[in-house]
Amino acid sequence: MAVIIDGKQISAEVRTALAEEIKSMKTVPGLAVVIVGEDPASQIYVRNKGKACEEVGIYSEIIELPAETSQDELLSIINRLNNDPKIHGILVQSPLPKHISEKAVTEYISPDKDVDAFNMVNVGRIMFGDYDFLPCTPAGVMVLLEKYGIDVTGKECVVVGRSNIVGKPMAMLLLHAHGTVTVCHSRTKNLGEVTKRADILVVAIGKANFITGDMVKDGAVVIDVGMNRVPDSKKVIGDVDFASVEPKASYITPVPGGVGPMTITMLLKNTVKSAQKDLT
Ligand code: NDP
Repeated sequence: MAVIIDGKQISAEVRTALAEEIKSMKTVPGLAVVIVGEDPASQIYVRNKGKACEEVGIYSEIIELPAETSQDELLSIINRLNNDPKIHGILVQSPLPKHISEKAVTEYISPDKDVDAFNMVNVGRIMFGDYDFLPCTPAGVMVLLEKYGIDVTGKECVVVGRSNIVGKPMAMLLLHAHGTVTVCHSRTKNLGEVTKRADILVVAIGKANFITGDMVKDGAVVIDVGMNRVPDSKKVIGDVDFASVEPKASYITPVPGGVGPMTITMLLKNTVKSAQKDLT
C-alpha cells in the first residue's frame, strides 16, 4: 500500500503561507493572464488562475482576446504589460491560434515577468541552477517530494516525457537535487526496463493509464503529471494506471489531486517572488 501524496493539502498549505507573506508586503503582487480565442478548457484554466490569485491576495488582470487577434496586436498588449508596474507576472495561455507563434510571444515577455519560466533566458538560467522562476509543474513536483521527505540524492530518477514545459525541466531539477537522471521519450527502447530501474518515476506523456504495474519497481515513488480528459466527461485520468501501480509503489500521486493543484500554486509563488524582487 502506497502513501497517497496529497497535492490538494500541500497546495493549500503553500497558498496559506503565501497569503500571509502577501499581507506583509508593501506592493500588491499582480498577475496578468492573456487568453486568445475561446478554447473551453483554456477558459476554465484561466478562470481558475484568476480565482486562485484572488484567494491569496494577488491582483489579477484577465485579458480575453478574440481568436482573430493578430500576433502584432498580442505583442503590443504584452509590451504594455511588460511596462505596467502593477503587473509582476505575465502568462499567455496556450494553445494560441495557429497564426500566432508561441515562441515569438514567449520571447517577448520580459524575463523578469516570465512567471511560467518558458522564456529562453529563464530556461538557460535553470540549466545553470541560477534562477528566479522555475517552471510551475516541475517545481510543484519538487515541493511534493520535499514535503513528503523524499530525498532525491543518489536516487535513480526516470522521467518519461521530454517536453520543454515538463519533462526537460523536471529532469534538470532532479539533477540539481543530485538524482541520477534518465529521460525517456517515444523512441526509447524497452521503456518498461528503464522505468523499472526508477526509485523515483515521473511520468508526463499525455497517454491515459500508460504506465502499468509491471513497469514499476517495488517501493518506487511514482509521480503522475498526466492529465487526460475522458471524452464526453469532466473526468481526468493520469498517465499511470493507478490500480496496478499503487500496490507496488511506496508513494504515489493521484489524478486528480496530485500534481495538478501544485501547478497554479507555483505560479502564484513565482508572481509573489517577482513582486518581492521589484521591492529591492
Ligand atoms: P507533450 O505532448 O508536449 O510531450 C509528451 C512527451 O511524452 C514527449 O516527449 C513524447 O516523446 C513522450 N511520449 C509520448 N508517447 C510516448 C510513449 N509511448 N513512450 C514514451 N514517451 C512518450 O506533453 P506535455 O509534457 O505538455 O504534457 C504531458 C502530460 O502532462 C499531459 O497529459 C498534460 O496534460 C499533462 N500536464 C499536466 C500539468 C499539470 O498541471 N498536472 C501541466 C502540464 C502538462 P517525443 O518527444 O519523442 O514525442
